[in-house]
Amino acid sequence: MREFYPLLIAGAVISAFAAAFILAYAFMKDKKEAIGFDRNMKDGEITKRLLKYARPYVKQFLVVFLIMLASIAYDIASPLIIGGIADLIKAPFEMRDLFIRLGIYISILLVSLTCQYFQAIILQKTGQRIISTLRYDTFEHIEKLSHHQFSEIPVGKLVTRVTNDTNAVSMMFTNIFVNLAKNSLVIIGILIAMFILNLELTLMVLCFVPFIVIFSLIFRKFSRKAYRKVKDGTTDINTFLSENLSGMKIIRVFDRKKQKMAEFDEKNDELGRAKRRQIFVFGIFRPTIYMLYISSVMTLLYLSARGYIYGLSFAGQVITADILISFYMYIQKFFNPIQTLAEQFNWLQSAFASAEKIFTILDIEPEIKDDPGAVDIGEIKGDIEFDHVWFAYKEENWILKDLSFKVGAGQTVALVGPTGAGKSTILSLLCRNYDIQKGRILIDGVDIRKYTISSLRRQFGQMLQTVFLFSGTIKSNIVLRQEGVTDEQIWEACKYVNADKFISQFDDGLEHEVREFGNNFSAGQRQLISFARTVLYDPKIMILDEATANIDTETEQLIQDSLQKLMNIGTMIVVAHRLSTIQHADNIIVLSGGQIAEQGTHEELLSKRGRYYNLYTLQHRRQQLMS
Ligand code: ADP
Repeated sequence: MREFYPLLIAGAVISAFAAAFILAYAFMKDKKEAIGFDRNMKDGEITKRLLKYARPYVKQFLVVFLIMLASIAYDIASPLIIGGIADLIKAPFEMRDLFIRLGIYISILLVSLTCQYFQAIILQKTGQRIISTLRYDTFEHIEKLSHHQFSEIPVGKLVTRVTNDTNAVSMMFTNIFVNLAKNSLVIIGILIAMFILNLELTLMVLCFVPFIVIFSLIFRKFSRKAYRKVKDGTTDINTFLSENLSGMKIIRVFDRKKQKMAEFDEKNDELGRAKRRQIFVFGIFRPTIYMLYISSVMTLLYLSARGYIYGLSFAGQVITADILISFYMYIQKFFNPIQTLAEQFNWLQSAFASAEKIFTILDIEPEIKDDPGAVDIGEIKGDIEFDHVWFAYKEENWILKDLSFKVGAGQTVALVGPTGAGKSTILSLLCRNYDIQKGRILIDGVDIRKYTISSLRRQFGQMLQTVFLFSGTIKSNIVLRQEGVTDEQIWEACKYVNADKFISQFDDGLEHEVREFGNNFSAGQRQLISFARTVLYDPKIMILDEATANIDTETEQLIQDSLQKLMNIGTMIVVAHRLSTIQHADNIIVLSGGQIAEQGTHEELLSKRGRYYNLYTLQHRRQQLMS
């Protein structure tokens, strides 16, 4: 009996571990939500949608599968060959036989390694292609969302979806699916080989399987929770960074650095904690499976050393030294894929969670979309009409109330009025950034909802208050996506809007670098670049939201001068803050509380002595005082 004590002790230790894990799981707090069961999409639905992306690459996956079968052959055959060699060398033997066996072993190894190489190459290429399509679709969809929908999702979250989450999904194609299949096949193959080789030893190994299953299942739950926490932490940090890096100037001006650092510290710690928890879970799982592996090997060696199994025969199978060696190797090859299989399931869960997040974004129905039967706008004249327009950003909080006005093709209309009167909103509605609730907006007499959105937006040259410059060069910012534009044409446009003077001061001229958001240019210079952009684009309708920023007098003069020229290009709607700008406008609409308070030309409004007159005289007097 005493001889079995070591085995009993090993069994007791393993059972104690199992009991501890089961207890830990039972006491795991708020199980369901914590471990990520709060998913809305079914795994089947996610798989179906993912497979749609993989469908064009069926051929590649088939090749990978065949290659994989070849590479598995090594895992199953090598213990047999090594066992055979052991059998050979225990008695006098021919070197030739040994070399033949070694030759076979090395050949299978080389084939397996080559297969693994090609498998990795094909999978990576295919996976990257799939993911770049998914990334493209996600980005394209995000672009379709309305301003309102877009502003509801933090930018950091969107960045995480397009980068981290697509990466996690890419793992699924490049790694998880194939490894799941491979490991499952290896386990089945090894089990069959072991059964054929020796039944009793196989049964002994199988005694450990229930423990492996228990440990793996519990590990899955814990690690799923850990993954979820790491993911949330990463999204949180990305969101925080994207907001705060953009607002860095404000943070500095208002001296909020300490507070923001503290906030970042907290989020950073949270992510650190989540990562450590994840490592801890793996740190427990891997050694536990290793313990099972070692225990089964020890049992094998102990029993054979004691002579209990050596030479044992059952159903025509005798356990000999070569079989022991083969089993020793099989046990290792059996445990490895089991451990990775459990981990792969986790990766799979994590990839599914990412896929769901991406699909949730893809499922957001764009609020503003083409009406059925919408047509391309084609060539337009540029007549604009607001016909009893009612608009609210939220519910019945009307920003524009029954607003009606017309702008003839080629005319300039200026919108003036106090902040919050609804001037910028009018510009936004014209491009269908939002849809109106009542009334109609017409271009050339046709409701803008009857045109396709992309063809409608193509008609506008927008020069907004905060000019958005992309990182690149002055040239790339003026040309944007237009093709076949020559440098001469760009210089001509720059000259027209007085932007040539400051650009020619740079040694590299149009190639001068523009940093993120155009940070290395003054507000006035940015405005002039946006004017040049518009002139080159040559739109039928121009939308200008005049900069309120302080601009030096010299640049101000240049802007005023080019504005007068711009007014000659096509129809123009301008939100003016400096009334001197719009004296030549065909119509000036004074807005107040979303309605027209008065309208007319500069002279007409002055002679009325109403709101415009008051505003104008106020500004005029201020200017005189300053000069
Ligand atoms: P103006 O250009 O005349 O200063 P706006 O058209 O920008 O005025 O704004 C009109 C009103 O609409 C303001 O009360 C403003 O707070 C509100 N508003 C503007 N944009 C939004 C938005 N995206 N969501 C909700 N309300 C908004």
